[in-house]
Amino acid sequence: MMRTKDNTEIGRRTVRVFFAIWPDSKAQRQLGGLVKRLRLETLCGGRKTKAENIHLTLVFVGEVHPDKLEILCRVASGIRDSGAHAFDLVVEKICYWKHKGIVYGEIGRIPQELMNLVAALQDGLSDAGFSLEQRAYRPHITLMRNASCQTLPELMEPIAWRVREWALVKSEQTSDGSVYVPVGRWSLDS
Ligand code: ATP
Ligand code: MG
Repeated sequence: MMRTKDNTEIGRRTVRVFFAIWPDSKAQRQLGGLVKRLRLETLCGGRKTKAENIHLTLVFVGEVHPDKLEILCRVASGIRDSGAHAFDLVVEKICYWKHKGIVYGEIGRIPQELMNLVAALQDGLSDAGFSLEQRAYRPHITLMRNASCQTLPELMEPIAWRVREWALVKSEQTSDGSVYVPVGRWSLDS
């Protein structure tokens, strides 16, 4: 069994998982349409995130043995039961991270509920024995990878949706790129 820097055991029988938020169908259409509307491929090159894959990562867990999925779901249920609240996410700006080569949608005002949810998840996961990334959490919605931008377009109108649930997602690597498969969903109190 090998260990990678982003956790974890990598082997024949591991699954790659992360906690994330998905946009509702309208926001998904809007975010998915941005690449074309803002001509991001022409401006920045690279490869766009398929609309169905657009998400906001809460916590990246990494490669784990499938036996651990049950524990991950238990941690998540504990957070739901402690009364996490629904909140609005508003993408206000298109940004570029040079060192990662990604173009992403930036959340304008970061909701306290989002930070609370991430902190609760991080705490629950470390209590359950998962070792997580130490870097500070920077919410972002990746729209393009392997990008290289000189100029960035303005986002004329913000894209917003109400977050009512979050999920544990399995990331499967296929010849057609990453495919995300939900493992569990938890709702937020409205
Ligand atoms: P691909 O790897 O095919 O380009 P992807 O990066 O979306 O697609 P994964 O690598 O499985 O697929 O990552 C799933 C999510 O977790 C993404 O939002 C990604 O940005 C995030 N992620 C991946 N690796 C890490 C890491 N080491 N630390 C924090 N977040 C990560
Ligand atoms: Mg990746």
